Amino acid sequence: MALVVMKFGGTSVADMDRIRNVAAHVKREYDAGNQVAVVVSAMAGRTNELVSFVNEASSAPDQREYDCVVSSGEQVTSGLLALCLQDCAVPARSWQGWQIPLKTDGAHAKARIVDVCGAQMKASLDQGEVAVIAGFQGIAPDGRISTLGRGGSDTSAVAIAAALGADLCDIYTDVDGVYTTDPRIVPKARRLSKVSYEEMLEMASLGAKVLQTRSVELAMTKNVRLAVRSSFDDPASMPAINLKQNSHIGTLVCSEDEIVEQQVVSGIAYAKDEAKVTLVAVADQPGVAAMVFGPLAQANINVDMIVQNVSADGATTDLTFTVAEADLSAALKVVEANKTTLQYKDLQGATDIVKVSIIGVGMRSHAGVAGDMFEALSQKGINVLAISTSEIKISILIDAAYQELAVRTLHSLFGLDQDSE
Ligand code: ASP
Ligand code: MG
Repeated sequence: MALVVMKFGGTSVADMDRIRNVAAHVKREYDAGNQVAVVVSAMAGRTNELVSFVNEASSAPDQREYDCVVSSGEQVTSGLLALCLQDCAVPARSWQGWQIPLKTDGAHAKARIVDVCGAQMKASLDQGEVAVIAGFQGIAPDGRISTLGRGGSDTSAVAIAAALGADLCDIYTDVDGVYTTDPRIVPKARRLSKVSYEEMLEMASLGAKVLQTRSVELAMTKNVRLAVRSSFDDPASMPAINLKQNSHIGTLVCSEDEIVEQQVVSGIAYAKDEAKVTLVAVADQPGVAAMVFGPLAQANINVDMIVQNVSADGATTDLTFTVAEADLSAALKVVEANKTTLQYKDLQGATDIVKVSIIGVGMRSHAGVAGDMFEALSQKGINVLAISTSEIKISILIDAAYQELAVRTLHSLFGLDQDSE
């Protein structure tokens, strides 16, 4: 017998038919003798609708009332799923965040979990009851309802799995796992059967938005085994979880040492929402970089990649960096404010660029990955505008027009195409 957390996202509980389908997935695990805690999102689109109601009601909403309104979508789906389960002879009850209680800090609308008291819920599971938990919500120190930030029900699920000491946390969504890259761009993309927490973190933060980044961080620190799988698979034809067989459906997100056959590169991610800022002919002298990046940090603008060209005349140089597209105009203003001290000739902002990244823990022990990457890109005539690296990632900035070509080229180069196995 296993203790499993099953989490269902918005498209999996979008209407009554989908909720009944979720009940069938839960029943399968329950009938196999497993203890089950289910975490649900609101119906697809519901949270957006609630947010727009809040904005209609107030131009500067009180965040506690925002949380009161937007948390309600999960209250509805948790109650409805408990009812559907009862209707198919599975004993079940709903749990709101405050009833568990799942305690958060006081940062309403983007609260962090500080403690999950699992004891009462565990007692209910031990009595053979399925727990149906409203995701996304908790209780703040002021006794008011809090929410965990958009996409936060993934984090609820992981925190509950950790508190209950669950054997597995299955995240059911509308895709059947994590892919080597976006299958819409590369039809030969493959589903990964396992991916490490660290790789998943890089992929999640780079726009492969299957899981909320924070949920992966939490799973890594609490050692929760996460699986991403589809709720659109027929519940009846799927086998129940069997821990002894050590098999899983979908993609398992786990620690690095569980992955025996490690590829050098596991995935290619891309992010379009980047912007580039260039200071043309800025003075090449000590203190200039500090004068640019200090005020940006103070303005809470995150800088990602930085390139400073070699100075041609020994006096001036071009300085380029990237920020989130949403921060571009703010970043330009911050730099402009120091124009007299920086004395650059021209300030340019551009958004027709894309960041492409190769990710893989195997890069730690392999030399020459960057060389191979740049060689393949240059053969396709793709110019690299900026580079940044970490131990398990190399990111390049290129012209947006080359995005698909770059992703496809790198996907084949590193042996990720479906037919290359
Ligand atoms: N319903 C919330 C949202 O849409 C939380 C979640 O689905 O994870 O952001
Ligand atoms: Mg989500």
